[in-house]
Parts: sequence; C-alpha cells; structure tokens
Amino acid sequence: MVNSELLEILRCPVCVKEAKGLLTLTRESWLVCSTCGRKYPIVEDIPVMLITEGDKWREQEVSALPVPPPYPN
Ligand SMILES: [Zn+2]
Repeated sequence: MVNSELLEILRCPVCVKEAKGLLTLTRESWLVCSTCGRKYPIVEDIPVMLITEGDKWREQEVSALPVPPPYPN
C-alpha cells in the first residue's frame, strides 16, 4: 500500500502549474490525472511521477491498464 498522506500531496507534474492536477488512485496501482488523463504507475509502492511515463499511458483506457504496472524503462 502507498502511504495515503503521500497520495494526498502528489500532483500531476504537467498540470500542477496551471491547474490542480489532482490524481485519482485507480485499482491500487495507477494515479490518473483528472486534468490531462496521464496515468502514472505505482511500482512496488513507489509512485513513478515521470512525465514520460504519464505520456506513455495517456491514451490507454483506465480499465485496460495492466495490474501490476510494468517497470518503467
Ligand atoms: Zn495532468
């Protein structure tokens, strides 16, 4: 499990400047940005807040996201 206090302060690194970039925890494994739709994987309880990762999954349907997420490469 990811620390819930950590999840509360995390924001999408792309949207945090202009918008809120609020993230929704999905299936305990992904953080989905409500503003841009980028999706950030949580790998071994560590949220991977890389823009390149968010971009990679942006067009993927939430229901089609792999659980557990693959390691970033
Ligand atoms: Zn965003």
